[in-house]
Formats: sequence, structure tokens, C-alpha cells
Amino acid sequence: MFSLSANELMGLTIQDLMISGDKVAHVQIGNNLEHALLVLTKTGYTAIPVLDPTFTLHGLIGMNLIMDNIFGLERIEFEKLENMKVEEVMNTDIPRLYLHDTVEKGLDLVVNHPFVCVINENNIFEGIFTRRAILKKVKKQIQLANNGNDSE
Ligand code: AMP
Repeated sequence: MFSLSANELMGLTIQDLMISGDKVAHVQIGNNLEHALLVLTKTGYTAIPVLDPTFTLHGLIGMNLIMDNIFGLERIEFEKLENMKVEEVMNTDIPRLYLHDTVEKGLDLVVNHPFVCVINENNIFEGIFTRRAILKKVKKQIQLANNGNDSE
């Protein structure tokens, strides 16, 4: 048996566990769907943030949204990839976290979302909080608690 201190995790903020913006793949307002598909395919991510040149967060674009928009009634309309912009397709109804939000709030959101964008009070993109980051932290805490018990 081991004991896991929830305080260790709950004392942290989103800023402590997020992936910072400079390491996050994104597309910009004005990019076409072809470019977004290229970035998504090359990175292997299912969805990425849509930002503007000031790094303001506008939404998320994912493979499913792109594919959904190019499926016509009778054929796949590949020409739309070049002609449509990411802002016509992106999802703007997305959860957001602030840098100083608690990990508990982040945990709540990543139950239903693989990752959540982190912004500052001016809606400027700061990074993402992922399920993987929180799971890694929990795993580390469990290992520490286990090792502590072994040495008792
Ligand atoms: P993960 O928890 O690492 O599997 O990531 C879950 C999702 O978060 C990925 O499918 C992407 O949509 C997004 N994501 C994770 N890391 C990045 C990154 N560095 N840049 C852009 N999106 C990311």
C-alpha cells in the first residue's frame, strides 16, 4: 500500500505543468486548410491552436474538422483545402485555462479534452496543458510514495 499526497499536486498551478507556447505547433489566422493539414500530418497531433500574429488565441483546428468540411455529397472536395481559411472551420467554443489556475481546474478539463490552451488575462496564448503532463506528474508522485513506503 502507498499514500499519495494530493497536496503535492494541488499546490501547483497550470504554469508549473504546461508546455510553453514556443514549443507548441500552431497555425495562424489566414492560413489555408492545406497548410493546417500539412502541420497536423507532419506533427502527428490531432488538433492545434489557431493564433494571430500577436499570439492571440482564436480557436482550435483539428483533422476531424478539416475532413468534415471537405467531404461533399458525392466526392471529397480537395480544392477546398487551398481555398478555405482555418478561421472558417476552427472551433472557437473551447475551454481555456489561465496561468495561475489550479491544477485541480486543469484536471477537471482534461477529463474531456486531451489538452487545453493556456492564456493570460489579455487572451494571449501562453501554452497548453495536456493530459500527458498531468499523468506524468501523478505517475511520479505514485513512484515517490511507493519508494517512501519501501524504505519504511
Ligand atoms: P499528448 O497529451 O502529448 O498526447 O497531446 C495531446 C494533444 O495535445 C495532441 O494530440 C495535440 O493535439 C496537443 N499537443 C500536445 N503537444 C503539442 C505540441 N507541442 N504542439 C501542438 N499541440 C500539441
